Amino acid sequence: AVSNDSKIWMNGKLVAKEDAKISVLTHTLHYGVGVFEGIRCYKTENGSAVFRLKEHIQRLLDSARIFMIDPGYSIDDLCKATVETVIANNLEECYIRPIIYLGDGGLGIKIDEKYPVETAIAAWNWGAYLGEEGLAKGIKVCTSSFNRFHVNSTATRSKTCGNYVASVLAKREAVISGYDEALFLDTEGYVAEGSGENVFIVKNGRLITTPMTSILRGITRDSIIILARDLGYEVIEQRFTKDDFYLADEAFFTGTAAEVTPISQLDGRKIGTGARGEITGKLQSAFFDIVKGKNKKYTDWLYPVK
Ligand code: PMP
Repeated sequence: AVSNDSKIWMNGKLVAKEDAKISVLTHTLHYGVGVFEGIRCYKTENGSAVFRLKEHIQRLLDSARIFMIDPGYSIDDLCKATVETVIANNLEECYIRPIIYLGDGGLGIKIDEKYPVETAIAAWNWGAYLGEEGLAKGIKVCTSSFNRFHVNSTATRSKTCGNYVASVLAKREAVISGYDEALFLDTEGYVAEGSGENVFIVKNGRLITTPMTSILRGITRDSIIILARDLGYEVIEQRFTKDDFYLADEAFFTGTAAEVTPISQLDGRKIGTGARGEITGKLQSAFFDIVKGKNKKYTDWLYPVK
């Protein structure tokens, strides 16, 4: 959790957490129209660096644009504000949460360009999202009874607060049933993504991931596609079914929080041997080398904290 002495960047100023308060009449609290990001900062030999910061801030502003919300900050402004927040909290490695939300300007559904828009950034220590053991051994996943949104039910390109209602339902259901994470199918029954992760399967040495339909355009997903191709693996973006998943040799989730987490089981069926797959292991360690600045080929992906 975010410690009580932490500082939050709010509308251009760093304020103490206890002063970073909003009204109960905040529009986003009622209707979920806010957009946010999840970003990680890692310690490297040359100080801390934020992984693909510009791409995350670009996605944040794209999310806002879909809703016709203008925070009034540029990519550069928000990259600088992010770094400022990390420094102000003395964090070497952390998770960063920028959010753009609609403030207290009336509770009608109708909003326009004059509606108050607020921007905040928090940062805190957050270890392995699905546990260290999950990273090493893989996690148990179940197919959710909830579907990922149809492409026109909401904006799937936007990381919208309200989209996470379904994620919370799916995650709760999975955990109550004894699993670590949920896998959403789309409204046509094809595999979509996890509650906060994109998904890959490996079959006969080839990686397959969901096409860009009902899913969030994951930055970790993109990084893994580039990295796997650089390592000589074939990667295809193609629809696949739950039973393709059952028959896969390996499977893993990708996400800023989840990083690269192997999936050992789906619906009680072992995936491959039920241990972290060989290709999954290679990609996972290559990914951690990159984020920790140990692979010079990808230093462009690191935004230094200074
Ligand atoms: N899908 C969903 C629903 C998510 O919440 C996330 C996490 N942001 C992802 C996929 C993975 O995206 P990224 O790799 O950019 O964190």
